[in-house]
Amino acid sequence: MRNWVALQGTGETFICIVNYHAITVAYEPDDLRRRTTEMAASLLAAGIDPARATLFVQSAVPEHTELAWIFNTVTPLGELERQTQFKEKAARQESVSAGLLTYPVLQAADILLYRADAVPVGDDQVQHLELSREVARKWNARFAPDAPYFPEPRPLLTPTRRILGLDGQAKMSKSLGNTVGLLEEPDDMWAKLKPAMTDPARKRRTDPGNPDICNVYTIHKGFSPKDVQADVADKCRTAAWGCIDCKKVLFEHMNAELTPIRRRARELHNDAGTVDAVLEQGAKHARAIAQRTMADVKERMGLA
Ligand code: SF4
Repeated sequence: MRNWVALQGTGETFICIVNYHAITVAYEPDDLRRRTTEMAASLLAAGIDPARATLFVQSAVPEHTELAWIFNTVTPLGELERQTQFKEKAARQESVSAGLLTYPVLQAADILLYRADAVPVGDDQVQHLELSREVARKWNARFAPDAPYFPEPRPLLTPTRRILGLDGQAKMSKSLGNTVGLLEEPDDMWAKLKPAMTDPARKRRTDPGNPDICNVYTIHKGFSPKDVQADVADKCRTAAWGCIDCKKVLFEHMNAELTPIRRRARELHNDAGTVDAVLEQGAKHARAIAQRTMADVKERMGLA
């Protein structure tokens, strides 16, 4: 989110809450509705400014699914089946929906509908973004061979591009229960941080550790100042402290950053009208652009 906040104003910025993606796994409708509003409040609380970025919910702009269908017709099935995230998620489910397979096609539509040329992503999304580039290439080759209509979006990677879940095994995922929520209360946050996986070779307090393979250290890089990071690495390598001491320092820095965000999100939560108005305004602007793109696409494809 810090990366998204920094991007605002550097060009036209779209931030889409992807509730259509969220329904590719089991969910409760009321819960989805609540989480959608909570996500919008979190983004605003973290510094997304509706005056400089268009914030909206995916399902409020029907052109996302319309373009996704069109992209389905130019996306090779083999590419979708090769996507690491599909393979990982499918392996965890008894019944795999087609939506889970075509998830990255909808992602390509989310991006290309606004003809975005750059997308801030983490490491785990680079492969999906490469697929978006291929979809753009294939569609351009077929329907805009002389002057490419869709740009090939490039990834904007963050400095902390790969943060694993607290189990230190898989990426953060609510279904795996290895996350810390942005709006989590301090006590709950500490309860999760305390047992978090560290360098597995550090079995005793006196064993020196290797911060470079410790996920807690990776999270330090996201929250703690540079001098603290250096001190953490030094104390870890020399076994000058235990992992609990290290986590306490991380907890302090996480709290310092997240407390004002939590407070602001709570205010926004009690003022649902403000969040709804921001989302409606964002959807209106997004729809206007999306409709223009779809008119061009349909015209080139003989659909209008
Ligand atoms: Fe990880 Fe900190 Fe423990 Fe080192 S001291 S292994 S960085 S938690």
